[in-house]
Amino acid sequence: MSETRRPPSKRPCPICKSPRQTEEYAPFCSARCRDKDLNRWFNDGYSVPGRPADPEEIAREQD
Ligand SMILES: [Zn+2]
Repeated sequence: MSETRRPPSKRPCPICKSPRQTEEYAPFCSARCRDKDLNRWFNDGYSVPGRPADPEEIAREQD
């Protein structure tokens, strides 16, 4: 039988590059890094034209 080489399952956190202590927030090391990644995606999404806010809808809410 040949020994199959598998890639290490424990990869470092993509945000802070430190090894994970728990798999709970995989692939991130902690909830903080997970949120950081999430915020990064949200910020990128703002530049993408998706659903433009209706000016009338906004004016109604401000009144
Ligand atoms: Zn991290």
